[in-house]
Amino acid sequence: MPQAIGYAAQAADKDLDYFEFERRDPTAEDVEIEIAYCGVCHSDLHQARNEWGGTVFPCVPGHEIVGKVTRVGDKVAKFKVGDTVGVGCMVDSCGHCHSCDEGHEQYCENGFVATYNGEDKHLGGVTFGGYSNRITVKEGFVLKVSDELELAGVAPLLCAGITTYSPLRHWGVSKGHKVGVVGLGGLGHMAVKLASAMGAEVVLFTTSPGKVEDGKRLGADHVVISKDEEQMQAWTNKLDFILNTVAAPHDLDAYLSLLRLNGTMCLVGVPAEHHPSPAVFNLISKRRSLAGSLIGGIAETQEMLDFCAEHGITSDIEMIAMDDINEAYERMLKSDVKYRFVIDMATLKQK
Ligand code: NAP
Ligand code: ZN
Repeated sequence: MPQAIGYAAQAADKDLDYFEFERRDPTAEDVEIEIAYCGVCHSDLHQARNEWGGTVFPCVPGHEIVGKVTRVGDKVAKFKVGDTVGVGCMVDSCGHCHSCDEGHEQYCENGFVATYNGEDKHLGGVTFGGYSNRITVKEGFVLKVSDELELAGVAPLLCAGITTYSPLRHWGVSKGHKVGVVGLGGLGHMAVKLASAMGAEVVLFTTSPGKVEDGKRLGADHVVISKDEEQMQAWTNKLDFILNTVAAPHDLDAYLSLLRLNGTMCLVGVPAEHHPSPAVFNLISKRRSLAGSLIGGIAETQEMLDFCAEHGITSDIEMIAMDDINEAYERMLKSDVKYRFVIDMATLKQK
């Protein structure tokens, strides 16, 4: 009986397939989790295909994990067997640098340990992620999940939720702000829901005319087809903040020019190739800023989960079986996701 089973990419140009591997038994500080659902992030695709470089194969992706606690170590105080929990993009960090001290483990100066393709300090090699039946994680990197919300819809909050919540909070988005969201995919649809729940007037920019109605249903006050220049120009100098979630290189100037004085566009999408460099005149003419943001810290992730529980926010999902993962990646490349694939781990069987 293998310790764990999952789906892995064996090489950048290979489909994901069944894979058996080892998981550590919980140490005194660890929590062992039986995974119920795992969301499918575009970062999984980027890394399974080595689009960012640095992927170690075999690679078991997955960093939007929810499930039940099956075992806990002696020193674990926050969790007990049977609790519903989540794990996001990180499973450890140094714990003593300036960033960790401030609760920004994602910016750990010594490098956080990613949930997959990170350095496995226990077993050697790299960490394996959530496209699997179970995972063992240090208590401090496990999140409490409300039993009130539909669990499969909570999984995507662990990456798509926190990656959009953190910059919206950092740039102080609230009532009275006009906020643009670029791209209605996994991250973008969470950004629309969250910015709207924070009280902002939300303008969604999409390349897909078929997503206009959904954009409004999800909370956007206005939906702009970004290929339509006239519609774009109507928003020139109007937005306080833009969250750009697009996973492909595109013209950033088209969006920067929509920012008002002192406005910021924050990039969270990480395409395989860089965007063309934006025009300096566009930035200086309104003291605009171009920024970036990486996921969010552990305390902030818990805050986001609690915010979502309070506001009844989950991800809109399309449930898939583990076997469907390769087809799901192809659909993701066509922007054909409504709005997050989530793997039902009950469909992962030992072979
Ligand atoms: P996704 O579900 O595939 O959504 C991306 C959306 O971008 C698409 O649905 C599409 O929306 C739009 N889009 C795609 N190609 C485009 C193009 N050529 N031009 C303009 N728009 C295009 O991906 P995701 O999971 O939300 O992830 C988005 C990006 O964020 C990925 O690069 C991922 O790696 C990155 N990410 C970053 C962090 C972080 O910490 N910064 C965390 C997680 C993910 P429309 O159909 O509405 O145009
Ligand atoms: Zn992700």
